[in-house]
Amino acid sequence: RSNAEKFEFQAEVSRLMDIIINSLYSNKDIFLRELISNASDALDKIRFLSLTDKEILGEGDNTKLEIQIKLDKEKKILSIRDRGIGMTKEDLIKNLGTIAKSGTSAFMEKMQTGGDLNLIGQFGVGFYSVYLVADYVEVISKHNDDKQHVWESKADGSFAISEDVWNEPLGRGTEIRLHLREEAGEYLEEDKLKELVKKYSEFINFPIYIWASKEVEVDAPADEDESSDEEEASESSSTEEEVEEEDAEKKPKTKKVKETTYEWELLNDVKAIWLRSPKEVTEEEYTKFYHSLAKDFGDEKPLAWSHFTAEGDVEFKAVLFVPPKAPHDLYESYYNTNKSNLKLYVRRVFISDEFDELLPKYLNFLRGLVDSDTLPLNVSREMLQQHNSLKTIKKKLIRKALDMIRKIADEDPDESNDKDSKDAEKASDNDEKKGQYARFWNEFGKSIKLGIIEDATNRNRLAKLLRFESTKSGGKLASLDQYISRMKPGQKDIFYITGASKEQLEKSPFLERLTKKNYEVIFFTDPVDEYLMQYLMDYEDKKFQNVSKEGLKLGKDSKDKDLKESFKELTKWWKGSLTSENVDDVKISNRLADTPCVVVTSKYGWSANMERIMQSQTL
Ligand code: ADP
Ligand code: MG
Repeated sequence: RSNAEKFEFQAEVSRLMDIIINSLYSNKDIFLRELISNASDALDKIRFLSLTDKEILGEGDNTKLEIQIKLDKEKKILSIRDRGIGMTKEDLIKNLGTIAKSGTSAFMEKMQTGGDLNLIGQFGVGFYSVYLVADYVEVISKHNDDKQHVWESKADGSFAISEDVWNEPLGRGTEIRLHLREEAGEYLEEDKLKELVKKYSEFINFPIYIWASKEVEVDAPADEDESSDEEEASESSSTEEEVEEEDAEKKPKTKKVKETTYEWELLNDVKAIWLRSPKEVTEEEYTKFYHSLAKDFGDEKPLAWSHFTAEGDVEFKAVLFVPPKAPHDLYESYYNTNKSNLKLYVRRVFISDEFDELLPKYLNFLRGLVDSDTLPLNVSREMLQQHNSLKTIKKKLIRKALDMIRKIADEDPDESNDKDSKDAEKASDNDEKKGQYARFWNEFGKSIKLGIIEDATNRNRLAKLLRFESTKSGGKLASLDQYISRMKPGQKDIFYITGASKEQLEKSPFLERLTKKNYEVIFFTDPVDEYLMQYLMDYEDKKFQNVSKEGLKLGKDSKDKDLKESFKELTKWWKGSLTSENVDDVKISNRLADTPCVVVTSKYGWSANMERIMQSQTL
């Protein structure tokens, strides 16, 4: 094209495209889902802007917020068009090639270690999946602020952009034209596309149409020859009614003729799942809805969900999900982003999926959606962010989220080992729920710990969700409630020890006496545990006692006083020779059994494990 300007793809993007175009990945279907998801995002954007600026939608067809799919069998072109926000020339350059998204290299790494291409959408590079099926792609786009442009690339390291002087004006929005590869012919079959839209894009909140052919029998004038019928058949805009009307006017003798007509056929039902009653929504529908929300299209079910309506001063509906797996970057950016994974809607209109006021950071692993009738529609995102109702929404969401997580444990037969037998019986009916809490804990336990540290209001609720191994848990996970139920008569404190690993801790001299006396000691081996225990002071009126620290009380022993007296001279001498720089005190202890002596941390000092962690952090 004479007016084309050429650009190089950013190196990483180029490499990604190479991987995709050469991929032997069999599930090539995913490209359609990615394109529809992009179209839906673009429609969400324009609808949001139209809340505060009515003019922005324009008029006529431009106001129709919809997605259209069209096939051209002869030219082997599949096109997907939306009336969304569109892209300016600059957007096309930036979004489709010159700037690598943060997920690009993470995704390639995943791919190299046998990751699934199916996950592409989660990494923010879904667009490039078009090269699974096409060897040449055109993106025609019209944004309100710019002229219509065409982006095109054959995935050969470069792309071109030109002002569009060839195609029909789009009005507004984007049309993606895929010039399909020879072996991707199946994507020219209407039925295949219909099936895919049903399968993957069921929860898109905009109507999706396909330009569908239809064989109809029409009355044709008996005296007219065949060729004119065929001409009419290829005239794609004619519909059944139009034809009949025309025929009716002429009123000649007629005969029945088969004719192909085309019309827009709606493929999805846009009734939002969260507006339906939870009783009517099936497990399968929730699972599929989760997949579309999370852009996670494995076959795994979410670990739990909660669908509810909040009433009162602040009204909203919400669906929350616990994903089956933690996302790849859950803790990487924990401290620099507040972004929750909840989508916020106000009266069915999508507002944002980057709202940071909906959930506390530690619950950012949840997926879901909130649709509020109380929040105002026609204000900016910034003003919404400060709206009073958000505090109430957040509070209720946290409660519901923690209830949902607790329920995973309640329904898990593995968790009910020391509840009364009736409970255990009931739970064991549910084989599917077996081991689910351990799974949850594996994936998201750290989030619960961070919650205990950060959320003083819900600390106790979160502490109930805490799991750990202990000297008595037999390699399984135990809860604080289980610990308490096993406490010895007269035992006041909850004992724990921190260190790098369970194996190392099991050999610790600090445990000798406690194990001999049959006390249970919790092992905390995650670096975050040291911080956790600075915040978790007590649980159900029991204090936590680090057994490697000063202050361990194991009940009174009548011999203690005598021992102290008879070793007075020795401890005095010892303390004197170790100088105050090295130790605070030297004492007779009742915490040991076989080991003669041990170094203990003072009550408010750092434990040896904490010293180790701090050291590894500053290195
Ligand atoms: P993601 O959707 O996760 O951002 P993609 O690779 O799917 O990543 O898309 C890249 C970007 O291209 C989008 O963020 C968006 O800015 C732009 N884009 C893609 N398709 C469209 C479209 N139909 N309309 C407007 N912008 C689009
Ligand atoms: Mg996308």
